Amino acid sequence: MNDYRRLILVGAGHAHLHLLSRLREYRQSGLRVTVIAPGPFWYSGLGPSLLGGDAEPGDDTVDVRRMVESSGAEFLEDVVTRILPDQHAVSLRDHPDLNYDALSLNVGSCITGPPGSEEFATPVKPISRLLELRQRLTSRPRSARPLRITVIGAGDAGVEVAGNLRRLLGHLGQAYRITIVSPGRRPLENQPPRAAELLFASLAPFEVHLLMGHRVTQVGPEAVTLDSGASLASDLTILATGVHPPELLRSSGLEVADDGALKVNSFLQNPNHPRIFGAGDCIHFDEHPLPRIGVHAVRQAPVLHHNLRAFLAGTPLRAYRPQRTYLLIRNLGDGTGLLTWRSLVLRSRWALVFKNWLDARFVQRYQAKGG
Ligand SMILES: Cc1cc2nc3c(=O)[nH]c(=O)nc-3n(C[C@H](O)[C@H](O)[C@H](O)COP(=O)(O)OP(=O)(O)OC[C@H]3O[C@@H](n4cnc5c(N)ncnc54)[C@H](O)[C@@H]3O)c2cc1C
Repeated sequence: MNDYRRLILVGAGHAHLHLLSRLREYRQSGLRVTVIAPGPFWYSGLGPSLLGGDAEPGDDTVDVRRMVESSGAEFLEDVVTRILPDQHAVSLRDHPDLNYDALSLNVGSCITGPPGSEEFATPVKPISRLLELRQRLTSRPRSARPLRITVIGAGDAGVEVAGNLRRLLGHLGQAYRITIVSPGRRPLENQPPRAAELLFASLAPFEVHLLMGHRVTQVGPEAVTLDSGASLASDLTILATGVHPPELLRSSGLEVADDGALKVNSFLQNPNHPRIFGAGDCIHFDEHPLPRIGVHAVRQAPVLHHNLRAFLAGTPLRAYRPQRTYLLIRNLGDGTGLLTWRSLVLRSRWALVFKNWLDARFVQRYQAKGG
């Protein structure tokens, strides 16, 4: 009989990537690690560049299978369909159930939209959908009539995707009219008003329009319906309506917040099921809910790495202390980046150069570990 203890990592997202790069340390502690993920890691920060044609899949992905197997751990290309917390087991789509001594969930988030979205809209997540969208538009015959595009949502992802769609269509020589629709009063509502002013300046030269104060209530094959009852012709509809955790957590009977996120304490550990940890977009951090941004997923990773090993060794856990401020730079698709940090808001070419440098450095660091 084997006397190893098994750690299962579900999802190979921004939070688990750091752990995957240090899997040898788990083995040295006498642990068997199994990683379950449906495919490679996609870095979201470069997603808009991927759409706009300034990045290629090789710039934006990490081969996690190679990373895991080169460390002597087990990789299962699969998805978890149910967590059985009382049995300390997970069910998978294509493999038999697996038991764990500790489980870490980094299953990210999904986007849902108004009725009809699933059939007729393209979500901005998973990031691989942005590449598919680029390929679809590139292979589509050019039309003299402008392509009518609706982007639902005027948050960070909505404005980056709208700007980079415009960039792509410009390269392709395809006329377009893009409308960003949002119920808010202004785009980027969670940022100082200056951010919206700079965005307007970026969009002004192009056929990209903002329709604020409106909600899309239905998506169809050739139009979207607004809450006013009006219809907006739309050849292509993009969903950037904000994210929520996957249904898996609630349907498995885990303790979740109202939005379905796994409840965790400051140790990133579920209070009801101490063998279960979580990080990234799929958690509800009990001390105070965190914005669903990659920055938190990445910062949680070293704490998660420590705590999983400490939990299995019976030594003290460490608390995650979220930073209050963080730097965000959006790629606006016009060669500039919109940077926000504390009260600083600026738009410049250098901001985008800096973002691209930071993003490439992040991905390349982990690509090198997969070698
Ligand atoms: C267009 C866009 C641009 C963005 N830009 C930025 C940015 O510049 N900076 C920033 O901080 N944030 C950005 N974000 C937000 C960022 O993408 C998320 O906060 C980040 O991806 C969260 O990382 P994560 O580790 O929680 O999940 P993810 O990195 O999304 O990984 C989750 C993983 O879990 C896997 N998974 C899901 N379900 C299962 C299952 N049942 N079984 C097995 N595996 C499963 C998925 O396949 C995926 O690999 C952006 C988002 C978008 C949409």
